[in-house]
Amino acid sequence: MAEELVSNHYKMSASQWLHPKYDVKTLADLAEDEIVTGPFAQIIRYEGKLKGGVLGSSAYDFYKICIQDHAILKSLEEHPEIALYPFALYIVTHELVHIVRFSRFLQNFNASDEEKLMEERRVHGITHDILDPVKAQGLSTVLTFYGTWRTPIDGLRTIP
Ligand SMILES: [Zn+2]
Repeated sequence: MAEELVSNHYKMSASQWLHPKYDVKTLADLAEDEIVTGPFAQIIRYEGKLKGGVLGSSAYDFYKICIQDHAILKSLEEHPEIALYPFALYIVTHELVHIVRFSRFLQNFNASDEEKLMEERRVHGITHDILDPVKAQGLSTVLTFYGTWRTPIDGLRTIP
């Protein structure tokens, strides 16, 4: 659902969509160094080069959205008014907006801390705009929750 909402928002056709460029994994599928304490997700950028390529375009970035189940579940325990489905929808939508913006060079992956904070607020705003018209049970509670709380919910890391 998050994929559909984000691709519609950016008016991306199926072929323009990020398909080969990212993956979403939950805790069960994460390696030890992909697990962090605190954030709900971590985006890891893997930099790669296609074999046999001579042009610069053969270099590619692959983004792995590493969902931090433990942080999400802990937060749900502390906020019983919030349900898992709309909360997870918010988080995955938010992470996909980040990746679209990285892939369109609207945001630099290695930005300064200050820029990252501004980008985080921007991405929360875009996520809100995307999800606001969506009818899903419990979603308005999540949007209200994030309406006042626009601090970073994720981390970024590059693995060459
Ligand atoms: Zn973020």
